[in-house]
Formats: sequence, structure tokens, C-alpha cells
Amino acid sequence: MLDFLSTATDGGSVNPWVPLAYLVAGVFFILALRGLSSPSTSRTGNRFGMIGMLIAVVTTLVTHDIANIVEIGIAIFVGGAFGLVVARRIAMTQMPELVAAFHSLVGLAAVLVGWAAYLNPGAFGLLTADGGIGAVSKVEMGLGIAIGAITFSGSVIAFAKLSGKMSGSPILLPGRHIINLGTLAAIIVLTALFAMAAPSETLPLIVAMTVAAFIIGFLLIIPIGGADMPVVVSMLNSYSGWAAAAMGFTLGNSAMIITGALVGSSGAILSYIMCRAMNRSFISVIAGGFGADASAAGGGGGEQRPYKTGSAEDAAFMLEQAEKVIIIPGYGMAVAQAQHALREMCDLLEEQGVEVKFAIHPVAGRMPGHMNVLLAEASVDYDKVFELEDINSEFAQADVAFIIGANDVVNPAAKTDKSSPIYGMPVFDVDKAKQVFFIKRSMGGVGYAGVDNDVFYMDQTVMLLSDAKKMVEGIVKALD
Ligand code: NDP
Repeated sequence: MLDFLSTATDGGSVNPWVPLAYLVAGVFFILALRGLSSPSTSRTGNRFGMIGMLIAVVTTLVTHDIANIVEIGIAIFVGGAFGLVVARRIAMTQMPELVAAFHSLVGLAAVLVGWAAYLNPGAFGLLTADGGIGAVSKVEMGLGIAIGAITFSGSVIAFAKLSGKMSGSPILLPGRHIINLGTLAAIIVLTALFAMAAPSETLPLIVAMTVAAFIIGFLLIIPIGGADMPVVVSMLNSYSGWAAAAMGFTLGNSAMIITGALVGSSGAILSYIMCRAMNRSFISVIAGGFGADASAAGGGGGEQRPYKTGSAEDAAFMLEQAEKVIIIPGYGMAVAQAQHALREMCDLLEEQGVEVKFAIHPVAGRMPGHMNVLLAEASVDYDKVFELEDINSEFAQADVAFIIGANDVVNPAAKTDKSSPIYGMPVFDVDKAKQVFFIKRSMGGVGYAGVDNDVFYMDQTVMLLSDAKKMVEGIVKALD
């Protein structure tokens, strides 16, 4: 029935239906990326991505000589079931570490495919007349394995740092830049020698290159501090795309080339946007060491400074009197799952004629778009949600800046203290608002960068020390 699709290659010529189906899958992936660029269209974007992947997988299965379809079916079933369980169990706050873990699998897959092609080139159509593998194929193979191995070990370290299994502080080896450059140079030389070597001499070269690439992935990520992890996760996302694209060239698979290039370039663009949001250069992120002095910069300890505290009733009273309230959510809102209560509070205030807006920092929470997803889940209107550059000038006219579980993204040290690990990151000008409410659980707790925050001690600040959900539910009760 599927004769017209039968095999992808027939005496060297490619079945014309295959590139066409892969092209259609590529179009779906582009539509997916477009959909994912806004919370209102992200569900549709996800569906496009799933359809594209289905087309790519089915096309590959029905048009290639599959040695054992049962084994592949079992692998898809086990992997799919595992993914389903993980996706259902994972908390929103653990999403960045899950993404890092998934990137490590993409990297490992690229390494395994590269090695499979090296060990059995005939099955991949890579054998030349002299019984070896062509030099160009070997360069593509080497690139795919090297980028895949770097992605794997780098993502494992990113996962360990984000999940708290390893300290988030930078680990700075003496002479690390020289070690890294030396290892990178060794990978390039080994790949070149591998490409030129006779078939009988290639094994030690590809083994050495793979080991060096695993090591460099580890070395590149250990010096990077917690505050730079968002950029690292998106950078590793980009690497995993390039690894897949390189493998696509080796296997002559246009779907892998298209998808890999899309993932690689979108990850690179996201890394660039995030670097700009944190006012950091990409090179300084890669060079690492950022945040190494966080403890020295004052992590909540040190001398006691006076601050005011208030209750839910106090906050409700002041919020009702306000004309304009700007809410700044952060990681603590995600931990407390306070978004639904917050939406109720917002509705009640609007019923009383108060203008309410949400201000979202590009690195608020623990992953790009973290706050947008939570607010969308609580059905907050997208037109009330504003990016940093669009709303920062409005704090001067705001009666209340309502900070809920955010900390680093409102810390003025980013503007004034050159010794602070977050110096240079653009932050919200909450100090310009007439009144500031700051929800966090205790004065001892610090934000991700581990530094004290002068906003706690400002004249117009009232600390609402409680779990964010409980505090907002208290305010809702008082407003009601
Ligand atoms: P922060 O991590 O700076 O601060 C979180 C605040 O939430 C703390 O003040 C904490 O204080 C409070 N908090 C925690 N749990 C609760 C709770 N249940 N109820 C009330 N308050 C709570 O968050 P921000 O969003 O301001 O900043 C994000 C930081 O994370 C930045 O430094 C960014 O670089 C980094 N990062 C961002 C990623 C991203 O992609 N967005 C990924 C990885 C890191 P207390 O403990 O006292 O309650």
C-alpha cells in the first residue's frame, strides 16, 4: 500500500516524497516557533510542533529499511511513557532543570548516532569505494559527536547546579582559560587527523576526540555561576540543535538539518536576548566566574537594619486607596503557587476602579517566560502584562509597587553597587513608587544571586513576611 514511499534511497537516488514530507515537517516546526513566541498562541504552537514531529518520524519509519520495527516500537513506547510520567510529575519550578536534563539526552543521542555511523558506515550509506568513510562525512561525524558530547556533559552539570545537587557557585580552576583553549584545540586537531586517517588508524583518534569533548563540556559549565544559568540552558539548547544538524549532514537527512538549524539558531537568539536583559556580554558568560563573590557581597547576614512590617489588612487598605498598582511577580510566586489568588486580588481591585498592571522581568523566576506561563494559567489578561522596558518608566506614577516573591529583579544594587554579582542587570525602578509592599517569607531569605536588597529598608517599603499564597489570600479576604 505504501509502495510509492517504499525506500528513502534507491540505488543512490532519493525518493522524492521524502524531502517533500520533511519540508512539510520543517514548515510545521517554523509555525511551532512562531506560536511559541506569545503565551496566547503557545498551545497552538505546541500542537504544530507535535504534528511536524509525527510527520518526520512516520516518514522516516515507512521510507527506510528498518531492521527491527518491534525494537523501535518498544523504544518509542518506553521513552514516551517515561516522558509522560515526568511531564505530569514535574513542578513548574523544576522546569529549567528538566530542560537541561532533556538537552543532555539530545547531546547523547548525537554522540550515539555518530558512533553508530562510524562503526557501521554501510548501513548509513557512507562507505566509499575503498571501503572507508569519505573525509567530508568524517568531519561532519566528528562535529556531531564533539558538539553532542559537549552538550551532554555541559547539560548534566547545568542540571546538577539547577537542581541543587551541586553548588550553584562558580568553580574556578587555576588557568582554566588555557586548559579550555588547549582542549578545544585538541578536539579540532583530532577531528582533522580523524578525517585524513586511513580506515585502520581512525579508532584511537575518534575515541580521544569524544573523551576530550566530554571533558570540555564539563570544564565549560563548572565555572559558570547560578545567576548566569538561564543563559547557559538556552546556549546548551542551541548546541543540541547544531549537534542534530551536523548529524543530519552525516545521515543525509534534511529533516534533522532543518530542525537542528531551527533549534540551534532560536537557542542562540534567546541566549543573546537574555544576555541583553542581564546586561552581560555573551563572551563574559562563557568565560564564567560571574557571582563568585556573591557571599562577599552580603548575603542577608551582617548588620541589622531597621525595616517596617505589615499585615494583609494593612496591605488591603492601602491597595484599595491606590489609583495605580504595579505587581512584580518573581520566583517566590511560583514556589507558593500564588498566581490564582493574585488574579482574584487583581479582579477585586479592578472592581473598585484601581488600575492594575503586571511587570515581568526577562529573567524573573527560573526559566524564560516562567511568570508569563503562571499568569496565563491563572487567566490574567495578556494586555495587563508588560515587559521591563515597556513599564519601567511607569513606577514614578504608581501608588503601589506590589512585589510578590521577586527579589534580584528589583534589587537597586544592580544599578549602584559595582561589587554586586548582579551589577549591570536592568532592574525595576520600584523605589520610584509611592508605596512598596514586599512579600517574602523571612528577612533571612535571599534571592538567587544571594545578595541583600536595599528595597527592604526604604522608608516607603512595608515587608509582608509570609508565604505568598497565604498573604495574598489574606488580602483577598480583607478586600472582600
Ligand atoms: P529571586 O530568586 O531573586 O527571589 C525569590 C524571592 O522569593 C526571595 O526573596 C524569597 O525569599 C522569596 N520566596 C521564595 N519562596 C517564597 C514563598 N513561598 N512565598 C513568598 N516568598 C517566597 O527571584 P527573582 O524572580 O526576582 O529573580 C530571578 C533570579 O533567578 C535572577 O537572579 C535570575 O538570574 C535567576 N535565574 C533565572 C532563570 C530564568 O530563566 N528566569 C533561571 C535560573 C536562574 P524568602 O526565601 O525569604 O521567602
